[in-house]
Amino acid sequence: MTKVLYNHNIQDEVLKAKKIAIIGYGSQGHAHALNLKESGFDVVVGLRKGKSWDKAVEDGVQVETVPDAVKQADVVMVLLPDERQPKIYEEQIKPNLEAGNALAFAHGFNIHFSQVEPPEDVDVFLVAPKGPGHLVRRTFEDGAGVPALYGVYQDATGQAAEVALAYAKGVGAGRAGILETSFQEETETDLFGEQAVLCGGITSLIKAGFETLTEAGYQPEVAYFECLHETKLIVDLLYEGGLAGMRYSISDTAQWGDFVSGPRVVNEDTKARMKDVLTDIQTGKFAKDWILENQANRPQFKAINTKENQHQIEKVGRELRELMPFVKQQSKKKKDVVTH
Ligand code: NDP
Ligand code: MG
Ligand code: MG
Repeated sequence: MTKVLYNHNIQDEVLKAKKIAIIGYGSQGHAHALNLKESGFDVVVGLRKGKSWDKAVEDGVQVETVPDAVKQADVVMVLLPDERQPKIYEEQIKPNLEAGNALAFAHGFNIHFSQVEPPEDVDVFLVAPKGPGHLVRRTFEDGAGVPALYGVYQDATGQAAEVALAYAKGVGAGRAGILETSFQEETETDLFGEQAVLCGGITSLIKAGFETLTEAGYQPEVAYFECLHETKLIVDLLYEGGLAGMRYSISDTAQWGDFVSGPRVVNEDTKARMKDVLTDIQTGKFAKDWILENQANRPQFKAINTKENQHQIEKVGRELRELMPFVKQQSKKKKDVVTH
């Protein structure tokens, strides 16, 4: 089995002597900044004036403009939206990097697809938590953590891996497990996971189930509970005990249905299409299309987003969640719900 590292395997002194700039204070940014700070590291956040700036000030972290934060720091973690990173890197980060600094990412996209080309005299590493930023923060506060991958693209100082591991420990990943990867593996598996399974796969599965029931004349509210709401309850069981742990808790009737009908819905045909999705990621086709979509100001992204928000499952879901205060409470508590 691949070696999984935990807190006791990691020395973090190397990072205690350095200043860390977190560029961006969104989903990942706020979690990294606050977790690192509470782990005893010296953190500055780099931002423009606006919503995130105000939130960071309110949270009590040191906030500077992006160029000033980079100038002060030894380690620069780029937690801006992927599609904006190349321009901000070129104009505000690169001119302020010094030899021996480290440039870090939470996703390998821009390095792997050559949208950011760092100078040779800096370390380049990634620490990619395998979970949404809000959970990186929430689990840390609960004394737990989200697992993370780390990888080194460029080792100018000879210390890149040591610094990356100390960083991963600082965000709390050492409580859950840290695995070594490459920028290529992280980028391709992350894109595949979110497209085929975690985001694209699951939303399409839920919608197809909901539509099948409502088109057959069943009540939308019943279809919503069955196909969307209950997903969380099942996923919690999967998270805790794997497939068998989930199957232990469901009825034998449900388990028999799982065995005989699951493979009728997701089967070799589905896998063949998953392989197509993976091929588009590996060849760079997905990356190219997404970069062009952004250059054109996102016409398809916006159109699809509008259409998706008008789907019946969203309308009925909004009404039902209003009536479930405990569900609303969760997102209220978080304040800033992730919207993408
Ligand atoms: P978000 O969209 O949540 O946050 C982006 C942040 O960047 C905001 O604080 C925003 O501030 C700031 N920002 C945007 N434009 C500028 C600018 N021109 N100058 C200064 N600051 C700016 O990003 P994510 O946390 O989702 O993603 C960050 C990275 O983490 C990406 O590489 C992503 O792939 C990776 N990642 C994300 C995960 C997630 O959970 N979302 C999971 C694992 C990895 P403002 O309020 O001013 O707009
Ligand atoms: Mg991911
Ligand atoms: Mg991703």
